[in-house]
Formats: sequence, structure tokens, C-alpha cells
Amino acid sequence: MPQSNRVRTLVVVLGDQLNTDAAVFDAFDAAWDVVWMAEVPAESTHVWTHKARIALFLAAMRHYRDRQRVLGRRVVYRQLDDPGGAETLADALAASIKRLEPERLAMVEAGEWRVQQQIEQAAADAGLPLTVHTDRHFLSTVDEFNEHAEGRKQLRLEYFYRELRRKHGVLLTDDGQPEGGKWNYDADNRGSFGKAGPGGLPPPESYQPDQSTRDVLKLVAERFADHPGSLDHFDWPTKPSEAERALDDFIANRLPTFGEYQDAMWADEPFLYHSLISSSLNLKLLDPRRVIERAEGAYRRGDAPLASVEGFIRQVLGWREYVRGVYWRSMPGYLDRNALQATAPLPGFFWTGETDMHCLSQAIGQTLDHGYAHHIQRLMVTGLFPLLLGVDPRAVHEWYLAVYVDAVEWVELPNVVGMSQYGDGGVMASKPYCATGKYIQRMSNYCGGCRYNPAKAAGDDACPFTTLYWDFLARNKKRLSGNNRMSLQLKNVDRKPADELAAIRDRAAELKAQFA
Ligand code: FAD
Ligand code: SF4
Repeated sequence: MPQSNRVRTLVVVLGDQLNTDAAVFDAFDAAWDVVWMAEVPAESTHVWTHKARIALFLAAMRHYRDRQRVLGRRVVYRQLDDPGGAETLADALAASIKRLEPERLAMVEAGEWRVQQQIEQAAADAGLPLTVHTDRHFLSTVDEFNEHAEGRKQLRLEYFYRELRRKHGVLLTDDGQPEGGKWNYDADNRGSFGKAGPGGLPPPESYQPDQSTRDVLKLVAERFADHPGSLDHFDWPTKPSEAERALDDFIANRLPTFGEYQDAMWADEPFLYHSLISSSLNLKLLDPRRVIERAEGAYRRGDAPLASVEGFIRQVLGWREYVRGVYWRSMPGYLDRNALQATAPLPGFFWTGETDMHCLSQAIGQTLDHGYAHHIQRLMVTGLFPLLLGVDPRAVHEWYLAVYVDAVEWVELPNVVGMSQYGDGGVMASKPYCATGKYIQRMSNYCGGCRYNPAKAAGDDACPFTTLYWDFLARNKKRLSGNNRMSLQLKNVDRKPADELAAIRDRAAELKAQFA
């Protein structure tokens, strides 16, 4: 059908909405409707974004624009390097509305509360109706989560996850029972590599950047030269075909071992047996249904053990959907949750990786190199340290949102402020994830290459995690005393001789002064 100059619906597509079959296209009429997208500086600067994260979003957006055009859809697209661009999404949209004079706007619900507000405000300012469609990428809706949550005293992943397994018929027997007789095989999935290490790991897939991606890499290197992180190792899927290759590679080479070693860490091995698909999922280059089907298929064929497959599916079908529900149920107040009243600044080494704590230099170093760290590194290394130090959860959130290629606020914020910092006082996690350096010692080989001793809490060679762990418990004793799951840990503080605890707290005060 020939395209008209008149624009009926201007379809706003955001940088993390790169599926061409979203609900907003069900009634798309190529004769009258136009896809609108914009690269704007503010989305890379509102937090001090890692170069690789900026490059991934822009490269994937440009490929998406090209796919839409191949489908015969008209796309109005503003590149960052076009002259005279607006600073924010709202300003860019307002300028396009003025020029194109659409009758109405449409979009899929945004992945970030702030962005949703901006688009709604731009529509209101222009006096245009805005239709917001449900995001069909997810296996549950925000309303379903709210129904699940209504009237419950406590939210827990496990019950929501079971509901979704039943609803979508995932890993069930013919009579609707959980495969293998248990819903959850987490207890089998906490292995470490031991002294022998991970051995010959399968190398991750690699993606040759095409001209369009190379242009973006050049643009980002020049325009965001002072931003954190490196582009030297940029190797992330930027199109659906590449995301599919990442999935194929994981199912064939890593899934069987994923479960057992999903919590393990090893120096200079950033990827281990993880899937590396979070950025592809979050940009909507990959459909989570397909990911779940492929993993379940591997189990049914006997190619991967149940504990691994269930452990993996629990992340994608369970945690991923659950955190989204928590986010939308709790915004915008969640941004400022600070149940432990932590106020310290984030230590400067989070932006450089320069610290003599080997676990942190490893986890931050690979984050700056690749924009990636796996779950336990994020939770029990880079998350644990600020929790124990008492860093303001908002500052921790801004760092995580900036530095990971898969960071989108709906998934990042509950994981950081809730799960890792306990800022929500127990919505995401039933107790703070606090531990000494001995946990890191058990799950990795980091401590072997460190000047500190994870078993020591006081003295110059005491592991800062261990020192700060005791200080954290002593400091937050009152706040945590009502939590039954903390009682054993709190009793252990009471058992510490007063002089020992005083020495630990003196050392903690030195550390806090050092990192302030
Ligand atoms: P795998 O370990 O192979 O897991 C498979 C998939 O499960 C992931 O790709 C992801 O889609 C999903 N998943 C796993 N754990 C979670 C979880 N806790 N919440 C939601 N989905 C999960 N994930 C993000 O996608 N973006 C973030 O910004 C983000 N920030 C995090 C911050 C903290 C403090 C913590 C503790 C976790 C965070 N996560 C985040 C969750 C998790 O760490 C990443 O999804 C995972 O490390 C991505 O690597 P992968 O694809 O190799 O995952
Ligand atoms: Fe990290 Fe402490 Fe181990 Fe050093 S000793 S690597 S600081 S846990």
C-alpha cells in the first residue's frame, strides 16, 4: 500500500523494545502509521553509562530500524550523530510530533518508570491520545503479579514461579506434577570448582560486527570517551540471529553444567557456564518462551540433567518475571527504599577496579572490560561489599544501571536495592545476603591471590568483607532483630568477646574512613 504523508499513529519504540511482533504492531497499517525511534544523549548520561552498554543499545536499535524497513514499515529514526538533535526522549518526541502531526501515539509499556512518565507527559503536552499496550514478551503481566501479591503478607519467588510453571505447563509430568517430584533443585546447584578449577571451558560465541555496528562503536568511542568501561572486548549479540546463536551455544555447551556451577567464581574466567543471554532477552532480541522450550527440550532428550534445567528455567521464568512484578508494583517509591538507612558513598574503585581486594578487582575488572559479571559476582562480591560498608542503595543502583550491558531498570533495581542491598526491608529477599570473606573463599579461588585473609576479622591483613560483616551485624542488630532468619547470625555477634568486637569495629571504622 502506498504510504501517505498523513500520519495516523506514531508508534514509539524504545531502545529495549526491539521485537517486531509486539502488540503495538497488531493493528499497524503501513499506509498511515509510522514507527518512531530516537537515540538521545540523556539516555547515556542520566547514569554514567559504560561504553559497551551504550554501543549495544545503539547498534541493536539501528539493526531493528533496518528490519522494520525491510517489513515495509516507515521508520522515523533520529541518530545521535544527526545534526541538531534533542537532549531527551521527551524533547525529541515533541519535535517529531510538531513536524509529523500524528493523530495519536502508541507504545508498548516501557521498561523504566521514568521513561514511561516522559512519554506520557509528551503526549499530554501535545494533546494527543496515547495507547499503552501490554508487553507480550513477558510470560506474566503486571496485573497478574498484582493479583498474586494482593493480600499476601510476604512475597516470595517460589509461589509465583510455581504458578507460572503450572500456567505455562513447564517441566510438568503428564498429571501436572513437577518433573522429578520437586519444584526446586536449588540445593543441588551450589557447587564450587574445588582446587582443580573449571578446566577446559567452552569459549563463548563471537559476533563479527558489521558496518552498522562498527559505525556505532566508533561513534561511542569518540562521543563517550570519558565514560567508564572499554569497547575493546565488545562481543554481544545485536540482532535476533546472533541472539539465537548465543542460545544454541548455551544449550549445547553449557546448560548441562550450568546448574552445578552457577554460583561458582574463578579468577580470569568471566563467563564460566552462564548463558550470556540477558542482554538479548532484555532488548527483546530473544523470546523467553523459546529459551524455556529449548532448555526443557534438552532435558526431555536426556542432554541435560533436571537440576541444571530447572535451575536455569527458574531464573528465566521465575526470577525474571518476579522482579518485573516487584518493580512495577513498587515504583516510583522503590528508588528511595533504604531500610538499613545506609548513607556512605560508593567507593571510587568501583569505577576503576583498582583495589587490593582481589575478588572486587576481578569482578569490577571484568565488568569494565565486558559489561558483564554473573549473578553471584553481582550479589556476593560487588553487591555484598557496599551492603556491609553501608553504602546508600541509590548510589549502588546507579552504578549497576550504568555498567552492565543487560541493565534495564525493571530488572536491575529490585535486584540491587532489594536483593543485594536489602533496601526494601525484605520484599525481594527474606534476609540480607550478608556473609564473610569465607563465602567468597568457598565459591572461588580469589582469596588465594589476595593479600587479605578471609578468616581474619581484625588486624591489617583481615579481609575487609569479614571485618565489615561483623560490623554490619552489630550496627544493624536492632533493625534485624525481628527477623527470625537472622537470629543465629545475630546470636554469634553477642557471643563475640567485647574486646574482640571492639577491635573489629575499630578496623571497620578505618575501612569506612578509607572508602569515604
Ligand atoms: P544466567 O546466569 O545464564 O541466567 C539465565 C537468565 O536468567 C539470565 O540471562 C536472566 O535473564 C535470568 N536471570 C537470572 N537471574 C536473574 C535475576 N536475579 N533477576 C532477573 N533475571 C534473572 N539481570 C539483568 O538482566 N539485568 C540487570 O541489570 C541485572 N542486575 C543485577 C544486579 C544484581 C545486584 C544482581 C544480584 C543480579 C542482577 N541481574 C540482572 C540478574 C543476573 O545477575 C543476570 O541476569 C545474569 O547475571 C545475566 O547473565 P546470564 O545471561 O549469563 O545469566
Ligand atoms: Fe576478597 Fe577477602 Fe578473599 Fe581478598 S580475602 S579475595 S578481599 S574475600
